[in-house]
Amino acid sequence: MAERRIIKVRKRIALVAHDNKKKDLSDWAFYNRAELARHELMATGTTGKMLEERLDRPVQKLLSGPLGGDQQLGALIAEGKVDVLVFFWDPMEAQPHDSDVKALLRLGVAWNILLACDRASADFILTSPLMQEEYETIIPDYSGYLKRKL
Ligand code: PGA
Repeated sequence: MAERRIIKVRKRIALVAHDNKKKDLSDWAFYNRAELARHELMATGTTGKMLEERLDRPVQKLLSGPLGGDQQLGALIAEGKVDVLVFFWDPMEAQPHDSDVKALLRLGVAWNILLACDRASADFILTSPLMQEEYETIIPDYSGYLKRKL
């Protein structure tokens, strides 16, 4: 049977925005500040600092994304310590850390976490009734991969 993990009522939400998307994320977070207040927030460095100021509340800050923050977040996802990732990445500009961006998105999918890359998706996730409930999520089973014959 697939392994499961309980996502608690108080969710651990990670937020990341590329520079051209920071205002969008800041506005979205401010608009949704009452709902976000029910959850734990973490973010890459610059995004986190921006959100702390805008929301006037603490945000767990990792390193700045291009300096390792995306990879720190990826590690937290792999360890089951992130429930939701809101990642406003910039579709119009290549980033110096594109490989890290790809890795972060990949790990989000590999570990079946909630993942919103634009405002519409983030709105649907945040307004889901499941945000107010415990939710049993499936942890993808990689045992076949781990036991593969080499
Ligand atoms: P930043 O990183 O929040 O430190 O700007 C965002 C990113 O991953 O590009």
